[in-house]
Amino acid sequence: MNQKQVYGFTEGNAGMKTLLGGKGANLAEMTRVGLPVPKGFTITTDACKAYLHHERNLPQGIMTQITEAMADLEARTGQGFGERENPLLVSVRSGSVTSMPGMMDTILNLGLNDESVEGLAKLTGNPRFAYDCYRRLMQMFGNVVLGIEHIHFDRLLQQLKTEEGVMDDQEVSADGWIRLTGLYNSCYIKHANRPFPQNVHEQLQLAIEAVFGSWNNPRAIVYRKINQIPDDQGTAVNVQCMVFGNKGNDCGTGVVFTRNPSTGETGLYGEYLINAQGEDVVAGIRTPQPIQTLHEEMPDVYEQLSRVANGLELHYKDMQDIEFTVENGKLYLLQTRGGKRNAQAALKIAVDLVTEGLLRKEDALNRIEAAHLDQLLHRGIDEAAVKDLLATGLPASPGAAAGQIVFDADTAEEWARSGKQVILVRPETTPEDIHGVLAAEGILTSRGGMTSHAAVVARGMGKPCVCGCESIRIQLEEKRILVDGRSLTEGEWLTLDGGSGRVIAGIVPLREAEITPELERMLEWADEVRTLKVLANADSPQDARTAREFGAEGIGLCRTEHMFLSPAKLPIVQKMILAESKEERVQALAQLLPMQQQDFEEIFEQMDGLPVTIRLLDPPLHEFLPNSAELQKQLAQLGEGQADAEPERRRLTVLLQKVNSLHEANPMLGQRGCRLGIVYPEIYDMQTEAIFKAALKCVDAGIKVLPEIMIPLVGHDSELKLLRERVEALAREILGEEKGRRLDYKIGTMIEVPRAALTAHRIAPYADFFSFGTNDLTQMTLGYSRDDAEGKFLTHYIDQKLLSHNPFQVLDTEGVGRLIEMAVSAGRSVKPSLKTGICGEHGGDKESIFFCQRVGLNYVSCSPYRIPLARIAAAQAWIQWNGEQSRETAKAG
Ligand code: PEP
Ligand code: MG
Repeated sequence: MNQKQVYGFTEGNAGMKTLLGGKGANLAEMTRVGLPVPKGFTITTDACKAYLHHERNLPQGIMTQITEAMADLEARTGQGFGERENPLLVSVRSGSVTSMPGMMDTILNLGLNDESVEGLAKLTGNPRFAYDCYRRLMQMFGNVVLGIEHIHFDRLLQQLKTEEGVMDDQEVSADGWIRLTGLYNSCYIKHANRPFPQNVHEQLQLAIEAVFGSWNNPRAIVYRKINQIPDDQGTAVNVQCMVFGNKGNDCGTGVVFTRNPSTGETGLYGEYLINAQGEDVVAGIRTPQPIQTLHEEMPDVYEQLSRVANGLELHYKDMQDIEFTVENGKLYLLQTRGGKRNAQAALKIAVDLVTEGLLRKEDALNRIEAAHLDQLLHRGIDEAAVKDLLATGLPASPGAAAGQIVFDADTAEEWARSGKQVILVRPETTPEDIHGVLAAEGILTSRGGMTSHAAVVARGMGKPCVCGCESIRIQLEEKRILVDGRSLTEGEWLTLDGGSGRVIAGIVPLREAEITPELERMLEWADEVRTLKVLANADSPQDARTAREFGAEGIGLCRTEHMFLSPAKLPIVQKMILAESKEERVQALAQLLPMQQQDFEEIFEQMDGLPVTIRLLDPPLHEFLPNSAELQKQLAQLGEGQADAEPERRRLTVLLQKVNSLHEANPMLGQRGCRLGIVYPEIYDMQTEAIFKAALKCVDAGIKVLPEIMIPLVGHDSELKLLRERVEALAREILGEEKGRRLDYKIGTMIEVPRAALTAHRIAPYADFFSFGTNDLTQMTLGYSRDDAEGKFLTHYIDQKLLSHNPFQVLDTEGVGRLIEMAVSAGRSVKPSLKTGICGEHGGDKESIFFCQRVGLNYVSCSPYRIPLARIAAAQAWIQWNGEQSRETAKAG
């Protein structure tokens, strides 16, 4: 037997979205609850998938099911499809699982031909109306099915209006419309080599095929990509009896939202047109009227519409977007769906629905989208003012900024000090550029990905950043950018939108970020629900303060190298690196000690009572020195034989030698992390001493300090054993020195080398906690260089669907996630109390947070500006996980 591929509206319900699409499922649901919906049926998304899979051939037997459904419509309406007397007309409309407004095709008035149009004219006593419907069908059908461009039809219509001396479509005479259908037929022959099909069954089949095919039209493909809608969902097709909003002045059509979609205010919001069909509202030919005036024009219809709208909102427990038509004073509903809304409205509506008793807090939390929070928590741009888009790179850190272009960190700092707003533009940034990043409003790089230095630092600071924008060429020497045949030089204005990756020429006005009272409420509810703790990646007292304001429950990652880069410390750090002997190095470290101690004191003070996880130095030492090319250039510029330049030449030569000696072919896999601490134990000793001395000083001042020392890049238990013993010995010494004082502290490790994950049971005995450094763990598990992959092959991989997501943004749960799962369970098998969390960039990503909940981590740590998002996502993750657990238990019971 053939599979059922056609469902009458009386056979479906709201739960059948996957099969019937959103529109089909909701039309069935409205029919089920007795609302005035024109009769019809839905052809399933499965049929669409089969059609697209089999080289655009409709699945077997489907036309028989459609013919039966049409016969049923004829029987129930008493009309005849294609008949002269009382003709049945239908609309053929797309309806995907996830709403994609306006992206696919629709055909109205199907079933008209040269005969039935006559019948319609007679039946309604209104030939003008009948031929208006006919010419609309011919245009829509011609465009959607045969690809004849609208312009050809529009030209003929315009000509007709000129001839009749009228401005508006409504003023065209019946004869005019009759003439136009004749002209349209010639237009078919000219552009499609065939006349308009007179056989209505052929019309129907071609229309259904075209709507299925419109799943793959370019705008639908782009929309799915932007909104991450799977390409394999397919669209359903709804065939529905026509009702007419264009029969006269007691007719009309419109769209209402049950609440205002931009502010969330309660009350009907929308617009309508008297004597019009649906596409007139969309086409913008006539200006629709606000829905409130319908109250005066058609009070009964307005009353009924308000009642129905209210009822639908109660039924779906969400703000609805409702399409309606009024035919001779009678209201019909053509669609209802959850209304699209902006961030502010989304939060207000969700909170109001809870207050009104319609939703539970959990349901409201589940409705919050990460993109909405990003919009609210960061500055945005005024979209209407985006005129001159130059390029699009990776959306590395959300928020928007406008500033004057500068090409190096020193100029950025200098210009910012003189009160200018600047955008730092670099091929890529290194730790050396940190002061420029700090001074700039936003950062643009042509290389590097989502975990490149610029991206990580900018996110940490909450600054907009666009990375890996390969279509711009940066010429540092000439101080200019080349893009798309244009050149922009230092001092010109740029606007960046770090949320979308757009680079725009000139100044685009910005919209401020805000934490609204509704967001505060939501965050409180999230905190009541979630079990995952949310900590911050913060390296300065300022970051710590921001993190706390956003609700962080501690610091999960303090990258100490960022402290080494302050202007006061960098020269001493460089002295330490350039030291010829251990003594010299120890001397430099002694100078750094009080400074580093003060950093920790200030952070502990901010985080009073909350844990602070401090990671000992991680990056390779060459990152603190100028790069070799720069030094060579400086040397060349000194010129030959000038005696007074000799000391500088010597200094630069020594520096260059050191830089060259530190050069590594593959620094990410080189001497960094704990390897550094093993080769130069005095560096980690200094940091440990600074941590404990700062902690004791804070305790004396009445501050509650919970330090956690974290050893990076461990791959072997022996590394951690050695370094743990060294930290403990030093701690004993310092605490003992201070007359046997007690201080609770922890020592743990990052798990970011695959071997560490694989041998977690051997590492756990030496670790109080595991913090998964998923940036490195992703890099090393996939063998993708963090700095290069996104700018090079990753986009190709994603475009070709070899990967569904960028693994540096959304955790690769199958691979990297499997390592995490194994490590958690192996670690806890030998140490049940082991604390676990993640601190890579994935700690602020919703899907990755869901994974962390599923595998039982204790916390996620992310940049301060992502804390609200992580709090909400953690609550959503718990709700989902808890639901799954309850279902499992119920099944087992
Ligand atoms: C990581 O690797 O995930 C991490 C947090 O460390 P970093 O990004 O500093 O290497
Ligand atoms: Mg790392």
